[in-house]
Amino acid sequence: MSKLRAAARSGRGLQQGAGEGRKSPRRCRKNVSSHKGMLPPVSAQQSAYHLFSHPAEIEAFRKNLLAWYDKCKRDLPWRKLAASESDANRRAYAVWVSEIMLQQTQVATVIDYYNRWMQKWPTLQALAKASLEEVNELWAGLGYYSRGKRLQEAAQKATGVVDGNVIRVLCRVRCIGADSSSPAVADRLWDLANALVDPARPGDFNQAMMELGATVCTPRAPLCMECPVKQHCKARCRVEKELEFASRRLLGKAASSCSQAPDIEECAATGSCSLCLPASEPWDSSLGVANFPRRAAKKQPRAERTATCVLERRGPRGQPEYLIVQRPSSGLLAGLWEFPSLALGPGLKEKQQREALLAHVQAWAGEAVARGRLRHVGEVSHVFSHIHQTYVVYSLLLGRDPETASGWRDEMLERPAFRWVTQAEFQKSAVSTAMKKVWKVCERQNCEGRGSGQGCKRKRGADPSRAGQRKVEADGSLPPRQLSLDAFLKAPAGE
Ligand code: SF4
Repeated sequence: MSKLRAAARSGRGLQQGAGEGRKSPRRCRKNVSSHKGMLPPVSAQQSAYHLFSHPAEIEAFRKNLLAWYDKCKRDLPWRKLAASESDANRRAYAVWVSEIMLQQTQVATVIDYYNRWMQKWPTLQALAKASLEEVNELWAGLGYYSRGKRLQEAAQKATGVVDGNVIRVLCRVRCIGADSSSPAVADRLWDLANALVDPARPGDFNQAMMELGATVCTPRAPLCMECPVKQHCKARCRVEKELEFASRRLLGKAASSCSQAPDIEECAATGSCSLCLPASEPWDSSLGVANFPRRAAKKQPRAERTATCVLERRGPRGQPEYLIVQRPSSGLLAGLWEFPSLALGPGLKEKQQREALLAHVQAWAGEAVARGRLRHVGEVSHVFSHIHQTYVVYSLLLGRDPETASGWRDEMLERPAFRWVTQAEFQKSAVSTAMKKVWKVCERQNCEGRGSGQGCKRKRGADPSRAGQRKVEADGSLPPRQLSLDAFLKAPAGE
């Protein structure tokens, strides 16, 4: 926690920000510069053109940015907490959680998750005691699940981040066009951020930088005219020079000696500078300031197919229950729960898919299941950051409780953790958005199976696989049947 407090004091990473669509966190440099605007020595491949080298300019940058921030900042829950919380540790923690949740995620989406998280784990110590299962449950639906896991793991470490909004602003104000995700550029961005941060108001300064990136210096349509630091912005300066030259040419004022576009690249080390735009992807006038930042081309997500089975049994009270199994503790969707699923190799025919899936779920079924009993429900697409996943969805209704079948226990020893859940329990479990889509496709198909004339708008708590039959209660149990008039008039036995 002392590290967290130190980070909060220095403003080194705990930016109390509210940016949107954050990029991945950057690692924090061990040796940071002081707040007096002094930067570490620049390597031979990096020109001072990309840095802030004059203390007066740094002062002016801070002053302009903070004046704008004081006037224009948005009212957000993590800001309220940061402003009202007197304990520096709790304040830093509140900001840190918001930072992580806001990576790659819109503010509007985060607010509800953030409020619930802070209610459940108001301190770092509370989070450190939480189980991964609890974290995953609360995080379910927010995406990029490793963030929740890492938050919990880092509860004792807590380092800072330079987020995507700050990267964008810094790359623009200093014309840094090299791959911003590369370690060398990330290090330089940390240096810049640390040199600029206002020692008197570090939290506000960092918050203001992110606010600027989220609301003014946006990725595609930056509002440069409204920008409080435009006079420090080299990307903006470059655009203005180009515009000026173009208008002079239009008016015929360009001197014959100046009929070519002026050399407006001011980096003295152009060509050999490791921070400039790469020669292979030079400045594109149509992009303007959005030439910065640059990132290495993203790989296309690879296509994968997975067969998944919604396996249903009757629970002890006759209520429908569904099998979910836990994913491995590392890798994609680590530790989350899902319907039994099986990655499909390329080129498998439908019959082969069924056979493979049936073999996979056979142990849980606890009985011999004929291939024809697997019902094909449909397909669900879900795009993860690097995988375009298609789930081929099947359902299987078991005739009896599989756990009463002989050999059940022996079979299950080889299996990952699993549990049978009601519909209500499924919704509360740590399941991914993709699995909720699988559930919905089952629900929709069952609804269609009933016939469109019967009205398929389902109420909360309804059991999708039993469409057309009795609805279940919120806890998954079946309500008592309504008695017929005859049965109603007949006195119950014993009375
Ligand atoms: Fe961003 Fe434009 Fe401001 Fe430069 S002037 S920091 S590009 S908004």
